[in-house]
Amino acid sequence: MRPAEAHDVSIRSSSAQIRANLSPRQPTARHKRPNVWLGKAIPLILLVFVWKGWELVLHRIIPHVAARNRRRGVVYAVTMHVALGMTLLSYATVYLHSRAPPAKKEPPKEVLERRVIFACDDAGEPIRCYRDQCAGAWQGVRTRHCRDCGTCRPVFDHHCAFMDNCVDAETHKAFFCFVLYAAVVLGLGLAPLLPAQLHALRLVTAATWSTEALSISWWSRWYSWLGGPIWRYAGAVLLGYRQFHLSVAGSTSTVDSKTARLSEPKLSTLAITASASLILLIAISMIVVVTRNAAKGLSTVQVERARSYRLQVKREPLGIKSRYDARLQLWIPAIDTHDGKASGDILRVEPDFPLFDYGRAENMRRAFGNTWWKWLLPWLPGEYSDTEIRPSALAALRQRVVKAS
Ligand SMILES: [Zn+2]
Ligand SMILES: [Zn+2]
Repeated sequence: MRPAEAHDVSIRSSSAQIRANLSPRQPTARHKRPNVWLGKAIPLILLVFVWKGWELVLHRIIPHVAARNRRRGVVYAVTMHVALGMTLLSYATVYLHSRAPPAKKEPPKEVLERRVIFACDDAGEPIRCYRDQCAGAWQGVRTRHCRDCGTCRPVFDHHCAFMDNCVDAETHKAFFCFVLYAAVVLGLGLAPLLPAQLHALRLVTAATWSTEALSISWWSRWYSWLGGPIWRYAGAVLLGYRQFHLSVAGSTSTVDSKTARLSEPKLSTLAITASASLILLIAISMIVVVTRNAAKGLSTVQVERARSYRLQVKREPLGIKSRYDARLQLWIPAIDTHDGKASGDILRVEPDFPLFDYGRAENMRRAFGNTWWKWLLPWLPGEYSDTEIRPSALAALRQRVVKAS
């Protein structure tokens, strides 16, 4: 670990020069950013997926469950629709969240008076953003400028192309609710669907894979080897389903897509089952990552910066210079600041230093709510502050300043 760097600061001398260096920049060419395009296309694709999935639930999955036990079918239908409604509500909360530039440009009073920790430039001045429409807005320790949204975001976590918006202080809770409810919907849907469709898949492969027709049209062809084993088997499944409908089960026209049994071999149902399973796995891993980071009081951006900082530390002895210093540059106020003078030091701190770690239980309360049922309400945002640093973290940083000076 490199020793911490501390400097005495003559605050006013170079601040004018720093401001000059931060002159307004060219706006980001947003139309060239893939996330901006994906943000327009993915919500439409999701809408089609949700519509098709809902049709499947309404016409085939609910009747399938209700056929075995009517009461269970009613409970299933209600639970599924409540979870689906909450998924859409959580999604809309993030998607419709304002992308306007920060209305408040000035830092809070305690930052202006230098009584608290804040992110600072080399002159000890609070960081301001001049990109896009930000026009000199103050940037807190966890504020980042999102180039996809073209504006600064407090407690920036990441930009989500699936929701065409940022996950930040205002939307983090709704994002968590979205992945949670989406996992419930997908889990409920797949519970009867997955076994039924695996049964259908076995039926189709048993009936078609060893036939001469498939051997001639696929297995013996050179192009069936083009994309490795996944390509070879996926191609066989596709052709097998077509052949199955032509020869075994009669023509597809006799199968009404809305009333067919759940285990009816249909390629579109198989495709929905496969994508729903994949999205469920992604949603579960997101729930794990989001809760784990929230418990530690960390954001995705801090975790990523910490990763590049570890790389930076590894490379330094080899003489490889990193493109930028991943550490945070912070103003550390001196203990006695009651005389009205701005005294303190600038310190560079590793990105995952637990500035906002108030302990596991308190971190979770701030991120999701103080009772379990508040965790489930996407419209109640979490509590975040960019100036309220854990007292023991402040004490530890002051120790570093003393050691380095
Ligand atoms: Zn900005
Ligand atoms: Zn964004």
